[in-house]
Amino acid sequence: MQTGFVGLGAMGLGMARNLGRAGLLTAVWNRTPDKARALAAETGATACGSLAELAAACEVIVTCVSADADVREVIGLMAPALRPGTVVIDCSTVSMDTARRAAELVRGAGGDFLDAPVSGGVEGARNGSLALMVGGRTETVEKVRPVLEALGKRILHMGSTGAGQATKAVNQVMCAGINQAVTEALAFGQALELDLDKVIEVVAGGAAGNWFLDKRGMTMIRGSFPPGFKLALHHKDLNICLEMAESLEISLPLSAQTRDDYAELMAQGYGDDDISGLFRLKSTGRPKG
Ligand code: NAP
Repeated sequence: MQTGFVGLGAMGLGMARNLGRAGLLTAVWNRTPDKARALAAETGATACGSLAELAAACEVIVTCVSADADVREVIGLMAPALRPGTVVIDCSTVSMDTARRAAELVRGAGGDFLDAPVSGGVEGARNGSLALMVGGRTETVEKVRPVLEALGKRILHMGSTGAGQATKAVNQVMCAGINQAVTEALAFGQALELDLDKVIEVVAGGAAGNWFLDKRGMTMIRGSFPPGFKLALHHKDLNICLEMAESLEISLPLSAQTRDDYAELMAQGYGDDDISGLFRLKSTGRPKG
């Protein structure tokens, strides 16, 4: 299955490498071309000079770019050059509306489209253990299953086009609450002048243990927030979730608070920090004496 990859960022690089290990990676393209050249040298895939060149060379194309406008741009540039029957799998986190528009464009060009946003962080992208939430036609999911299985361990077909993105929105609302809970609790522990290394070690083994505490706890208490998942990207996701909630006439108070907290951090120049940078707003700055 000749597979191309578009968007070699924090997530895409690890995902593309796993396609390479599975013997599926044929071609790569990245807006900043150096990243594509480096991965091509490492894997033997072709670094394409344009999206049209990549589209013409592949029967499956995985995209993982930042936001709605970026997905629309990338799919728009590939569509005229797609081979009939090509499947585009978009792993970016975007709105259901963008997924549906992208699907229309790809189907209009004789191909098919799956929205397949992912969860599991850069670690999951690196080690191929991502969870994939897939929307689209059943037969298309089955056709590209080897590609999906090279990217992740848990692959769930959630329904028709857009159902993957709807599921990812649920995931992002949950992540907002977890981030609020973990950063607030650790700041509380800091104010109590506890040894936070020990707090994390013991709490992680009990009912409050979770992925975010395991992966980001030790770095956040040291004031280190390398991405990871840039908080500007989660801010983008929460705007999507809050728009969806508004149209359903329900409220998502934790998501609204988190979106506003991220906006404050972005205004201070911290948009490229990991989402654990929320700790900056909570920390009392009182280390154990
Ligand atoms: P990232 O490190 O910022 O990488 C973004 C990638 O998209 C880069 O390759 C960038 O190219 C490319 N890109 C952006 N705009 C583009 C455009 N207009 N045209 C072409 N390429 C464009 O972001 P990331 O963390 O990998 O996230 C990618 C997607 O996965 C996002 O939708 C994010 O919400 C989602 N996601 C992230 C995580 C996470 O933990 N990081 C987890 C799950 C889902 P350049 O190299 O030229 O900048």
